[in-house]
Amino acid sequence: MSIDIQAKHQPEGLEGAGYFATSLEKVVGLARANSLWPLPFATSCCGIEFMATMASHYDLARFGSERLSFSPRQADLLMVMGTISKKMGPVLRQVYEQMAEPKWVLSMGACASSGGIFDTYSVLQGIDRIIPVDVYIPGCPPRPEQVLDGILKIQELTKSEAIRRRDTPEYKALLATYGIE
Ligand code: SF4
Repeated sequence: MSIDIQAKHQPEGLEGAGYFATSLEKVVGLARANSLWPLPFATSCCGIEFMATMASHYDLARFGSERLSFSPRQADLLMVMGTISKKMGPVLRQVYEQMAEPKWVLSMGACASSGGIFDTYSVLQGIDRIIPVDVYIPGCPPRPEQVLDGILKIQELTKSEAIRRRDTPEYKALLATYGIE
């Protein structure tokens, strides 16, 4: 019985008999995209939906992200899920700043993205007021399929970004708007 194995995520490059050549940037992007280590910053109900995404039915491990990190220094994807109070804001920002480059941020659900239904004096009206966000997932709460879609979008970003992301003028300008050096 012959088994037809195809490489689904092969980067663009030059191919011939016995060789394949591509750029270092594409290989690094591919490796990064398929080994993202998330830091789940979960404060309320959206976190429960993330637990369902991790469990066997949706199985986040299929995308190389089953290794959660509760230390910012060993994480490259900050996933913010739940209501973030203004008191919690400086803590979230410190966690973001402690993460090493390259790093990405996923804002999951209405509360993290905009304050959601909690338009009150004590709730941060969107985490992008204190840290840059790469992908937003809508919903209250978003379904696990939406969480997977958000992670796939982060993977697309990681594949196409420069190896030294932090040194690009666009990224420096973005961090400068947040007062982050
Ligand atoms: S968006 Fe909805 S489900 Fe998610 S934390 Fe806010 S209230 Fe809870």
